[in-house]
Amino acid sequence: MPAVCDPAMTAASDLRLACRSAHPDGTVVDVRGVAVGGPAIVVMAGPCAVESLTQLLAAAAAVKQSGARILRGGAFKPRTSPYDFQGLHEAGLSLLVEARARTGLPIVTELMDARQLEAVSACADLLQIGSRNMHNYALLEEVGRSRLPVLLKRGMSATLNEFLHAAEYVLKGGNDRVILCERGIRTFEPSTRSTLDLNAVPMLKRLTHLPVIVDPSHGTGHAWMVPPMACAAIAAGADGLIVEVHHDPSRARCDGAQSLSPEVFDEMMRAVAAVAAAVGRRL
Ligand code: PEP
Ligand code: MN
Repeated sequence: MPAVCDPAMTAASDLRLACRSAHPDGTVVDVRGVAVGGPAIVVMAGPCAVESLTQLLAAAAAVKQSGARILRGGAFKPRTSPYDFQGLHEAGLSLLVEARARTGLPIVTELMDARQLEAVSACADLLQIGSRNMHNYALLEEVGRSRLPVLLKRGMSATLNEFLHAAEYVLKGGNDRVILCERGIRTFEPSTRSTLDLNAVPMLKRLTHLPVIVDPSHGTGHAWMVPPMACAAIAAGADGLIVEVHHDPSRARCDGAQSLSPEVFDEMMRAVAAVAAAVGRRL
């Protein structure tokens, strides 16, 4: 008999694999030796987009020094305007490999299309499915067949029920290593880029056994809001964070306004460590 989810979410009752009762103790996802979903909070950090080796290494060294465990960096960027910087593509992937060789940090990077899966899989330790592709069921099925873990970001207008069913697609394909990421949703509020739905954290932790992390960078759009919302996410029970960091945010080719300088990231990590300790976790 299929496991049944929280009756408060009846539409989710066919979540055979994602549902909490399938693994009541919670799933810990291994990302090249880094455990996500265990007692330790895992922070993934780095630039929005890979721009150059110098830029990537500056961010990578800084975030490692401050306690980040996984390096983020986009090589294939989903930009609203086709005239904006689209990422360095394969050359960006090579730079990520170089940064991993120098720092030892595992890499998370996004793919937007199944045609990128082979190249991205050759480099990444964690495959990122972005907000815009959460509903791309063909792509979810492809990464479901992958041997690599998947970071699945919530669609910006997706309900939690839709989000969990997207995860179910990946799990059904045979890939049991899925990490969920709350990254903010579209509401009527224009003062922030998104409304960071921290309600999602305790709700998802109740409904699913999968680890849940939060992206306060895209969730707010403002660098000054990232540290407090990162702390709030950990207080709410998140298993980790993904944060944009740039050595010179004013010159970033993508998402500079929400990117932290290494100094502010370091301060944020101290605050996050204190909040983690207060809720019985550690960095
Ligand atoms: C990103 O993480 O760089 C990104 C594009 O995020 P999202 O898919 O959440 O917009
Ligand atoms: Mn970004």
